Amino acid sequence: MDYKYILETENLSKHYGKKKALDSVSIHVSQGDIYGLVGRNGAGKTTLMKIICGLSKKTNGSFSIFGKSDNEIKDIASRRGLLIESPGIYPEYDALTNLRIKCKLIGINDMEEPKRLLKMIGLESAGKKKAGKFSLGMKQRLGIGIALAGHPDLVVLDEPINGLDPQGIIEIRDMIQTLNSENGTTFIISSHILDELSKIATKYGIINNGNLIEECLASDLNNRCESRIELVTDNASAAVNVLEKLGFSQMKVREDGKILIYEQFDRTGDITMALYSEGITTIEIVRKLESVENYYLRLVGKESE
Ligand code: ATP
Repeated sequence: MDYKYILETENLSKHYGKKKALDSVSIHVSQGDIYGLVGRNGAGKTTLMKIICGLSKKTNGSFSIFGKSDNEIKDIASRRGLLIESPGIYPEYDALTNLRIKCKLIGINDMEEPKRLLKMIGLESAGKKKAGKFSLGMKQRLGIGIALAGHPDLVVLDEPINGLDPQGIIEIRDMIQTLNSENGTTFIISSHILDELSKIATKYGIINNGNLIEECLASDLNNRCESRIELVTDNASAAVNVLEKLGFSQMKVREDGKILIYEQFDRTGDITMALYSEGITTIEIVRKLESVENYYLRLVGKESE
């Protein structure tokens, strides 16, 4: 492998007349990432995905996939699966026939492959029902199956859980995780709800009004959330000594004596026990956990102001 990122964009822009749907966006997707592309409706997620999949032309900037530059991406089409907007479904055929057509189109002759895909997306029970009569959730599943045909190394899914019920969301999430951990498949998944991605994403690109406002690892995002333990005791400085002995270092004492602790949020029990055994009274101890969704809303809210 003579490239660092499976997908890299550099100052990628797309203008529709005066509208900048995408404005100098640079993202970096490594082998094995589940990359969450997050942004409100109209942020530019679909535009970005369409460009990297060769469905729309960029205005400026560049990108490369598997080390191939954007004018060579036809060469890697078979290594990439995609589900963007209306999936390529033939409404007059059932799910299995749709999958057989896709397999044939990409040169897969293994007769078992369409059946394997049908099982994986949980549509075996749809039988002979025509895809045109499917619910939105069933169409999404079939679209995902079509994207996964031929074991692509990179799968691009635009809002894949749209229209799925809670059980369906869990199943699709599990499927993505299994393909990622067992086959090393790299995913780029868009959503306007960060919480939905937070259970699986390993890296995020957050976009707003066509701009990438943050790109970070999932672990960094968790650290950036303003989660904390708030502790009030009858002796703040003695309490800080006890906390240090317990292994806490990321904390501060406010002027009113309240101690704010920014790590090890599940150790409130240890803290109260240790304080008690040192003769310090705990007056109040509260865990305030900020969800990643909240952090994201704060971030895009600030940008919009
Ligand atoms: P959604 O989740 O609603 O699809 P998105 O983040 O995918 O949102 P895009 O579809 O990429 O957003 O759209 C980004 C911006 O570009 C929006 O303001 C949209 O109105 C505009 N846009 C997209 N396609 C076109 C087009 N063909 N002509 C003109 N403007 C467009």
